[in-house]
Amino acid sequence: MNMTEGRDSAGLRRRIEDQLDLDRAIELVQGAIRIPSVSGHEREVGGYFAEQLERRGLIVEVQEVAADSVNVIGRLRGDEPGPRLMFQGHIDTVPDYGYAEAFSGAVRDGKILGRGACDMKGPLAAVIEAAGLVQNLGVPLRGELIVACTADEESQKTGILRLLDSGVAADMAVSVEPTDMRIALAQKGCASVRVTTFGEAGHGSRPEGKANAIRHMASIVAGLDDMAAEIRNLPGIGPVRTTNNVGVISGGRMFMVVPDRCDIWIDHRMLPGESQTDALQRFRKFFGALAARGGFSIDVALDRQDWSCPRLIARGLKGTMISPEEPVVRGLAEACRQVLGLVPSYCVQDAWCETDFLADDAGIPTVNFGPGKMELAHSASEHIEIAQLGPAIQIYALMMLNVLGKGE
Ligand SMILES: [Zn+2]
Repeated sequence: MNMTEGRDSAGLRRRIEDQLDLDRAIELVQGAIRIPSVSGHEREVGGYFAEQLERRGLIVEVQEVAADSVNVIGRLRGDEPGPRLMFQGHIDTVPDYGYAEAFSGAVRDGKILGRGACDMKGPLAAVIEAAGLVQNLGVPLRGELIVACTADEESQKTGILRLLDSGVAADMAVSVEPTDMRIALAQKGCASVRVTTFGEAGHGSRPEGKANAIRHMASIVAGLDDMAAEIRNLPGIGPVRTTNNVGVISGGRMFMVVPDRCDIWIDHRMLPGESQTDALQRFRKFFGALAARGGFSIDVALDRQDWSCPRLIARGLKGTMISPEEPVVRGLAEACRQVLGLVPSYCVQDAWCETDFLADDAGIPTVNFGPGKMELAHSASEHIEIAQLGPAIQIYALMMLNVLGKGE
């Protein structure tokens, strides 16, 4: 598909640049940050995004997800059939975790501060601004632009599940999770692995000869560093490896009791193509051998502490990979080249994103590209750089026009 065929894209790029109102975009991001929307409580921010989409001429649908939780979908329909291009992002955030500026939206040193600034109210605002520019330019469109704002990504994914159950369809999609303006062709999967060690309860004054579950766990945690990472060379990206983070430990009853049980939860990030059961087998084998050498017993299981949804527990969170030859990647790369003067490098998104559901469950070829740095997400210094916001809006708008524009 030649998406720029017959169109004066340099002229379009200039018109987009002329119409871009960065102050309005900043206000849009600030307005969203100032409405707290921890997972499960997205109704108010959903109303805000719905109003902003409507104001820019999109047809808006609000999908009920839970008591205080909604998805918002904006649509711009062309007047003849053509590709359906979706931009997707989540409207919930993690809690403030002690971030003093969490709901300020203050602008300082060229950055907009706040929870959700990059993950991902800022990137979503860029899409909404871009859709508004496209509408304003009055270029005749074919096909359909879909802006899907989903709830509950940071928890049980009920928003994206609801979106897919509603039968939403698209020919291509862009997840706008932050990639620092690079094109993420792949993303890693995520599994929560629980390891339990067992001991024998007894009086703390006579620990000799008693199996101590915490001491056993110490050898498990130390041994984890010796577990070889899985490494694969991904086309266009290079070597990508699995990682482990011991995120939680819990064990013992009271200082004067020999502990009979200790648990850890490991955040294991997987390569595209691996399932959580593959990962579980690997951990069982590795820790099973370690426990056998140490003469203690263990249990290894998949167990995510914040999940109760059976569908999600069974499914897990998988990695994805898309070919750089897919039209959605080529269309995005071309828009980047037109705005930035170069095609950004391809990369892997280390964090799991809803790309997994769009690609694996709905069969929509999906690429991930967004302003902001993922390493700032969930942190007490989350922000988005204004210097990335403007180019992101232009890239999204130009991609929309390249894919959906009928030419003039
Ligand atoms: Zn996110």
